[in-house]
Amino acid sequence: MKHYPMIINGHAIDSNDRLAVVNPATGDTFATCARASDHHVDTAVHAAKMAFDVWSKRPDAERKALIHQLGALIEQHKDELIELVVRETGKPIGGLGGVGATMEVMGASAWSHVTADIDLPDEIIQDDATALVTVTRKPLGVVASVTPWNWPLLIAIWHLIAAIRAGNTVVIKPSELTPLATARFIELANGILPPGVLNIVMGEGNIGQRLISAPAVSKVVFTGSTATGKRIMASASNSLKRLVLELGGNDAAIVLPGTDLDRVAGDIFAAAFHNNGQTCACLKRLYVHESQYEALCQRLVAIAEGIKVGNGLDADVELGPIQNEAQRSIVENLVAAAVREGGQILCGGKRVEGAGYFYSPTLVAGLRNGCELVDQEQFGPVLPIIRYTLIDEAIELANDSPNGLGGSVWGENTAEAEQVGRQLECGTVWINGHGGVQPDAPFGGVKESGFGVEFGRYGLEECTSIQTVKIHRQ
Ligand code: NDP
Repeated sequence: MKHYPMIINGHAIDSNDRLAVVNPATGDTFATCARASDHHVDTAVHAAKMAFDVWSKRPDAERKALIHQLGALIEQHKDELIELVVRETGKPIGGLGGVGATMEVMGASAWSHVTADIDLPDEIIQDDATALVTVTRKPLGVVASVTPWNWPLLIAIWHLIAAIRAGNTVVIKPSELTPLATARFIELANGILPPGVLNIVMGEGNIGQRLISAPAVSKVVFTGSTATGKRIMASASNSLKRLVLELGGNDAAIVLPGTDLDRVAGDIFAAAFHNNGQTCACLKRLYVHESQYEALCQRLVAIAEGIKVGNGLDADVELGPIQNEAQRSIVENLVAAAVREGGQILCGGKRVEGAGYFYSPTLVAGLRNGCELVDQEQFGPVLPIIRYTLIDEAIELANDSPNGLGGSVWGENTAEAEQVGRQLECGTVWINGHGGVQPDAPFGGVKESGFGVEFGRYGLEECTSIQTVKIHRQ
């Protein structure tokens, strides 16, 4: 069975303690990785701190060129990385709507290249007879990254490429459920980068907490649950670390009256169910005008019943298993609550018997705000469809949530849809689409979905501090 070490200061570091990594499509352990001790975490942070001086002073053009090399490296090793992503996450090679492991790996490459080309030049605020005032962006130091199990490689790339592009060094701690593609990438990257720039520690229990609390860490970037994000924020306060928190979403979508349902049904379904709904910016609550409610439910049921669910290594599979048993139980409990609260299961609503953590794509009608499945993030292959009468009511219901990651409006009149969309309390609004992110546009949440953004110039700026220099001329 293949074993994956940590990478600290450019060296492969093993541990007596090992973590088993399970394939959610079979329930079997297929690989192991080294499990970090507190000492390993401290050593990794020290290595990153030592590497910072040289890396941050490296000419910008050289850092840019090395990051382009990382993007190329991912592409060169794409077959190996895609297989690792499929085995550890369960997501299919292709996936529903093309959103699967291939997209994850090729997206990681593309994100690296685009981020490599983003510059943060000095800004001149004043240049006259009295003074020259310049604003410079400076790297922060050591960035601690804690990544989740739903898009492990892509989110790792989001965290660490921006950090090192801006001149920081990184220690990453992937989810203990999906550490392998990230570990392999860090190993490959260390063949190119100076030692200590990118380090990885793996483990569970208190490794994340140990890492983010290290005094030498200047910034924490975390993608995961709101509850853990709040704990991280509390811990980070001891030394006022910078934070970017990309937390839970419970994204609403509003379908306006008169929408061409044949045009939108497939896209709405894919936005809710790709990766089995295990994406922060999946469509998680669907608000449909009463005039089209039954018709859209019927169309979505027809799509759900045609979806091929299975082992993601099979080429034509669209949805794999849920990534872990605990998440499947969360989904199951929310569906049970929906039934108790008067919801009608239009399709699915049960586990797929046999090995692996499979669950049928499930559509639930007849719920309203205040029901558990509507109010809580399901993070699984279940979509509540909620009826509304007035558009203002739909906007109010959509905003009636502690979360505010994304939201969407679907309709034939784009100007009307945009006008409705701009009233949603969320970080990103999509019109006639949902969940698409891109490496040059900022992405982040409001309310309890977190703060700080990733991607593009705005994301890069989050990896820096500002230094203002004023040269008096008189
Ligand atoms: P969590 O959000 O709880 O994150 C777990 C990770 O955070 C682990 O790596 C853990 O490391 C680390 N961690 C936990 N506590 C701390 C701390 N105090 N300081 C630093 N790191 C810490 O994920 P779960 O897997 O438990 O998922 C829970 C829910 O989160 C899901 O049901 C889903 O709703 C949501 N989720 C959201 C995602 C998103 O993209 N927004 C992605 C995945 C899940 P260690 O074990 O070492 O403590």
